[in-house]
Amino acid sequence: MSKPIYVTMPTLAPLSEVNEYLEAIWESGVMTHNGPILQRFEKEVKEWHDAAYHTVVVNGTVALQMAIKALELKGEIITSPFSFIATTSAIQYEGCTPVYADIDPETLTLDPAKIEEKITENTVAIMPVHVFGNSCDIEAIDAIAKKHNLKVIYDACHSVGVTYKGQSVFNYGDISCTSYHATKMLNSTEGGGCYTTNPELDAKLKRIRFFGFSEDKTNVVEEGSNFKMTEVHAAVGLCNLKYLQEALDDRREKYMHYKQRLSVCPMLKFQKIIDDCNYSYFPVIFDSESTLLKVEAALAADKIYARRYFYPSLNTFTDIVPYVAMPISEDISKRILCLPLYKGLAWEDMDRIIDIMIETLI
Ligand SMILES: *Cc1c(COP(=O)(O)O)cnc(C)c1O
Repeated sequence: MSKPIYVTMPTLAPLSEVNEYLEAIWESGVMTHNGPILQRFEKEVKEWHDAAYHTVVVNGTVALQMAIKALELKGEIITSPFSFIATTSAIQYEGCTPVYADIDPETLTLDPAKIEEKITENTVAIMPVHVFGNSCDIEAIDAIAKKHNLKVIYDACHSVGVTYKGQSVFNYGDISCTSYHATKMLNSTEGGGCYTTNPELDAKLKRIRFFGFSEDKTNVVEEGSNFKMTEVHAAVGLCNLKYLQEALDDRREKYMHYKQRLSVCPMLKFQKIIDDCNYSYFPVIFDSESTLLKVEAALAADKIYARRYFYPSLNTFTDIVPYVAMPISEDISKRILCLPLYKGLAWEDMDRIIDIMIETLI
């Protein structure tokens, strides 16, 4: 029997490379507290992206919360129902109200026209999501924000390695937040980062990360908390960073192979990419939920576990948000499936996945 295949597996540097860092950490006794490895990870990831300022934190969800805190937002934040729950929960955790706007059915990101319809006198910000590494219509969103005097925080948790109009997508919005979780393109096991082009905002994020202390640590000047990443996590991230380009190249090649072979199935649609993409996921949109369930079952029978991502649409979690219909997001959520895609995925296995799908569909 073949081994089970999951939707993703982390891209990991050789353990011996991590061990070298661990030995240095053990020797120095510096485990955390803005240590030298954290500082190196923060700087090298930033330089890799050619981004302006970067504050590394414990995870992507906290990065989103810190961005709301740093911008001192109180009120309604317009966001996407087609995302992971963390986008909504970060808004709620900071005492703000998530207001959903519907997505574009082709790009799967917030539809700028729908954002404008949701603006009220209580709106303070927009939190769009770059879905599956496909950037939002940043130009249109930033224009809306400017016109209505709103802040923009991009949930860029899928966007490591992505550019928009020739520069890192992290350089857009007031703050862009990413994730270095094990399942993401670059991982430090758990981790996240806030990016901004504003040096004062960056300094504020770094104070919030460290209990709100002033730079000289003699005073507490912000409502902060403990959001520091440890040296051990930073070491894992730093080792994995060396292999990021290789992982990105591999993803793109496999994505194109999937897309090219699956194009023979007329009932499948693929996400429309608007600029650049890191191809970190391979989502397929079926003609109906029943077709999706048939394919999901056929794959599972061969121990291949694709994932219904994002499902269900966030506006249907009525225990935490009042239901407001989001017809496009609800419809797409029911018909979208992410196929296994990761560095260690064997080409034979990918072809087996494609064969099963074609057999089931045609
Ligand atoms: C992963 C993810 C998050 C949260 O990141 P964590 O590092 O897991 O906290 C937020 N938004 C989106 C779209 C994500 O995929």
